[in-house]
Amino acid sequence: MTKGNKIPRSEFIKCTGALTFMLLGTEWVFALPSFAGTLVDTAQKRQAYTLQLLKKLVTDIGPKPSGSKAYAKAAGIVFQEMQRSLSEVSYDRYEFEKQEPIKWTNLVVGGQQFEVAPQKRGFGTPAQGVEGILTKHGNGFAILNDQNKEVLAYFSVNQYGKAIAGSASGEIERSVPVFGIGKQDVPLLERSAVNQLRASISAEYRALHKAPGLNVVGQIPGKSKKEILIIAHLDTIYNTPGANDNTASVIVMLMLAHAASGRNNNHTLTFVASDSEEYVYEGAYHYANTRIANNTLGNIRYVLNFDSLTYGPNLWINSKDQGLKDMIRTIHQDLKLQTTPIYSENDGFVMDSLPFRSSGARALHANSRGYDEKTLPVYHRPDDTADKVPLDCVEIAFQVFDELIRRIDRE
Ligand SMILES: [Zn+2]
Repeated sequence: MTKGNKIPRSEFIKCTGALTFMLLGTEWVFALPSFAGTLVDTAQKRQAYTLQLLKKLVTDIGPKPSGSKAYAKAAGIVFQEMQRSLSEVSYDRYEFEKQEPIKWTNLVVGGQQFEVAPQKRGFGTPAQGVEGILTKHGNGFAILNDQNKEVLAYFSVNQYGKAIAGSASGEIERSVPVFGIGKQDVPLLERSAVNQLRASISAEYRALHKAPGLNVVGQIPGKSKKEILIIAHLDTIYNTPGANDNTASVIVMLMLAHAASGRNNNHTLTFVASDSEEYVYEGAYHYANTRIANNTLGNIRYVLNFDSLTYGPNLWINSKDQGLKDMIRTIHQDLKLQTTPIYSENDGFVMDSLPFRSSGARALHANSRGYDEKTLPVYHRPDDTADKVPLDCVEIAFQVFDELIRRIDRE
């Protein structure tokens, strides 16, 4: 640098002074609130926002199972989205023991092939696969060992449609490989079982020690420490891009965060995009434990758990809290929504909200119904793609929960 290029000290102070003001003032104090709240303040903006995020989080990324690079990428996008209007965004990290199916064959019965989906966390077959006699077993089917009639593999039926990841709940006692099959294949399999046809299949699993788990947590500090927690899981199972289960609900949650960031809230609002919901809620459990360790779990007064808000325009509210259900009923009337919410006596502390039970908060778990023919058959399937998300359901869920958050914030 030549002498002539030196900035006089007085000028330098002015410069850095202005810079400091910009950093402290513009970046952190003024820029945020003036921008916040307007990001999704019309139905048109919300639709554009939803479509853009469905492309990024569903179409471009594909399946994002817990512990995968795809999940970490999706979590990064959600982190950035939260940062657009929330002042406090962080990752809540943990490790978990992951197990995933990596290779499997169709079920072959009497020379005929049937599509299957292995259990998400389960047992593989020996490398050469298993072979035996097909039989009816419990609510599903099994392959039995020819000699000792032991169950070599179990098959659960998806009542909604084609094969989804199998589940063995209560049907078998031992650690046998489990697969899902589609309901359309049941008649043929039943005939095959009557005729004691031979069946074979194989599956291979991989165990991942200390797989990375990653919740994304955004917060809007309120006037009080009393807190409303909204949670929606971002992970999918191994074979689906998970548009309706549960990425669209995460997008609804992000829009609620943007909207609330433009208001002066009494309650502190916390938004959690949780990981590992499909791995028995390990992400939600970890975050609840983080809050217990910080001695702040008791601040939580409301827990709203969103899982699959876009199966139809009729929200399905699971809660034992009559007051919350009444409030949602009134909101539907006040907003003149032409939908028929379902109010269930099921516990609001279920799945991802279960770990927060000891907070003593008021809780609901929201799902939805109404476009069952279109949306339920794609559940946990490769075709749960962005185009399967009914955009009217996104808008209805946004309107109802935006209003609910406003009303409970006044309580
Ligand atoms: Zn789900």
